Amino acid sequence: MSKSLQIEVNPLLCASQERVILGELSYAELKQIQQDIAPSSSAITVELMFTKVRKFVVLTGRISSNLVVQCAACLELTDIEVDIDVKLALINNEGLMSLVPDGYEPYLFEGDKLLMSELIESEVVLVLPSIVRHDVCPIELPKSSASKDFMPETEVKKNPFGALESLKKH
Ligand SMILES: [Zn+2]
Repeated sequence: MSKSLQIEVNPLLCASQERVILGELSYAELKQIQQDIAPSSSAITVELMFTKVRKFVVLTGRISSNLVVQCAACLELTDIEVDIDVKLALINNEGLMSLVPDGYEPYLFEGDKLLMSELIESEVVLVLPSIVRHDVCPIELPKSSASKDFMPETEVKKNPFGALESLKKH
């Protein structure tokens, strides 16, 4: 399961071959969500298959992972389980958007090639909450922000894992 998913495929050809895509996208390979998750996140595991429904190329299967993100309340790390039931109709023409088969989400790509890693990350982006909080934080939080000195927002940096990342490289 170490086959790279940074591959470009021709969806039409894949559909005619009923090609199966198995593999993993590691943290290091991520482009869209790397800033939002911690390096200790699991790889994104993928089992997808190209087929056809009517004249549409469809992609079905599963994208799963266990991502580690920072809790917005206590700034400790927390896990998010990702388990996506994929049912996409791949189209390269916006005009077909309203015609995709029932139960399928349209996925628009350009030209006649599709970068698998990009599609996979785009699907994960859709389920990744923009703000993550523990149900119950493991550490005691300040009771109120009544004090004028308590302004946690200013502490949140753009890339909260920058520090972790540099530690990891040593
Ligand atoms: Zn928390």
